[in-house]
Amino acid sequence: MELHFDVIGAEGPKRYFDALTRETLAHAYLFSGPAGVGKKFFARRLAQSLLCVAPKERILGYDGVCSSCALFRADGAHHPDFLEHEGTLKIGDPDAPRGFYQGDELSTRDLVRQLSLQSYSGGMRVLLLGDVDFATREAANALLKFLEEPPAGVVMLLTTPAPGRLLPTIRSRALEVRFPSLSRTQVREVLGRMHYGDADAELGASLSGGSVTRAVAALGGEEESLRAHVARWFFDCVEGGSPQDAWATRETLDDGLETIKTLVRDWIVASGHDGVALVSLDYAQRLARLRPLEGREAIALLGKLDEAQRLARTNVSPALVGELVRMSLPVSS
Ligand SMILES: [Zn+2]
Repeated sequence: MELHFDVIGAEGPKRYFDALTRETLAHAYLFSGPAGVGKKFFARRLAQSLLCVAPKERILGYDGVCSSCALFRADGAHHPDFLEHEGTLKIGDPDAPRGFYQGDELSTRDLVRQLSLQSYSGGMRVLLLGDVDFATREAANALLKFLEEPPAGVVMLLTTPAPGRLLPTIRSRALEVRFPSLSRTQVREVLGRMHYGDADAELGASLSGGSVTRAVAALGGEEESLRAHVARWFFDCVEGGSPQDAWATRETLDDGLETIKTLVRDWIVASGHDGVALVSLDYAQRLARLRPLEGREAIALLGKLDEAQRLARTNVSPALVGELVRMSLPVSS
């Protein structure tokens, strides 16, 4: 029987789990690494591997056709021994009735209660807590109690882009597995599987910084994406126009500054560094029409953008940071 494990990238985590057996598998893992590199996707495929009933020696891999795999494949189906929750956990009501619970309001107590139940199929039980976060310290402590004395046959998979935000006590009880950024080729391949066309996949990959989430956001939907909005503002500034609507808010500041930095980087590339690839392929012509940046000017500008990014992490108002960026951008004409 041929086994599959159709995860793109994540070579390190694949090697790690490939070297394990069911006996050496830990009871809790923390998947850390940037957003959008496939941590939850990997965790789901790992869960499918662990619950697949095909006989196999290794941890990773599933046949895709057994009764267990069918529950991972079908829309709306759910394997009863695979519990998945995304986001913040509350502590929950200690007197709530037992039973399998699926929904947004899953609490730590619900989880612990469910994990103490018997496995449905007589095998393992796998819990995935994606982008795990706790509403209160009590909610985290409720999970901690479970991690201290985990029931046999339960594997817990936590994912987070910010492991430093978790309680050290939670972190220390799970084995951390780091997920690296994806390569441009890998992002393009993922986007292809998501049914983006070749041109969009190429553009998305070039803007992704190794993150599928960022690629998808950059490609945008019907509405103008933040990137398109910020780029319009940027070209208004450097082409000597008067930028209309400001873009900088608390929510958009980080990504917006990143967009500007990428455009400035590409402006520098377009100013005459042959052999260095442009990232903003969709703005190539517009960038080529800008006055070339001189070396010293480019370095000063990058320094100011670094400073803006540093200010963005303080309490300085986003509008003010946006204004500082506007004033630091050279006018091209
Ligand atoms: Zn299977």
